[in-house]
Amino acid sequence: MFKLIFWGVRGSVPSPGKETSYFGGNTTCITIENEKTLIIVDAGTGIRNVGKYVEEKGFKKIRILFTHYHWDHLQGLPFFGPIFNPKYQIDIYGKRNVSNVLSLQMKQPFFPADYKNLPSKINHRKIMPQFCIDDILVETIENNHPSGCVGMRFTCNDKKIVFMTDNELSATAPATDRKSFIKFVKGSVIFIHDSQYTDVELKTKRGWGHSTFDEVIALAEDAGINHAIFTHHDPMRSDLILKEIIAEKSAKHTKLRLSAARENLEIKI
Ligand SMILES: [Zn+2]
Ligand SMILES: [Zn+2]
Repeated sequence: MFKLIFWGVRGSVPSPGKETSYFGGNTTCITIENEKTLIIVDAGTGIRNVGKYVEEKGFKKIRILFTHYHWDHLQGLPFFGPIFNPKYQIDIYGKRNVSNVLSLQMKQPFFPADYKNLPSKINHRKIMPQFCIDDILVETIENNHPSGCVGMRFTCNDKKIVFMTDNELSATAPATDRKSFIKFVKGSVIFIHDSQYTDVELKTKRGWGHSTFDEVIALAEDAGINHAIFTHHDPMRSDLILKEIIAEKSAKHTKLRLSAARENLEIKI
């Protein structure tokens, strides 16, 4: 069993409301798990509900991987119940000094509890180009994003999940070129990529670090992917419009299965 669940699929800022309730308004958080291991990627507001899930499933050891530290990827951490519970061991992986970065948002006067004195057992680890978490292999690639972001590939029993949030595929001064992204994405059973903008919207958002639906489709086609999943939905994108975009793109690209990430969507491979 190799399973992925989406807990938060929104980019930039939480966007609750009746126009976004189908896909969900929580910011970025996914979990990847097999029988014995739970990995959380990013701690947007979606992570709050992972707290209950961890308790129900009985996981005692939790790993949280940060793609980067923009608000929409860490603002849920202070509301993730297990950090306040001494029975949990939490390994947190990130670039830079992850401990210092995370403690910034949990300091007076921003938050009443101090990150450095949390009751859970927290260890901090550096994100490397390649490392293992139990029997899940994690490989990373540098995305094109202001102040950096890490794309991740998870392999278990030869099955690959690629999660690339916050990545500008057509960046003018890219950290990583397209060829390298194609190589990284190739062979993934589940391919999830940031598609915050339409081609029209991108014209005024160049350099913001995000991609369009069409750019993600082109990458998926070049990498021979069967199923591409859009994520990091723009906070202004209503359910109705997003459904229309998916239908329109699907009609044009019949060989590729396209869908949009949605809160509580579970995929087993
Ligand atoms: Zn983001
Ligand atoms: Zn970002």
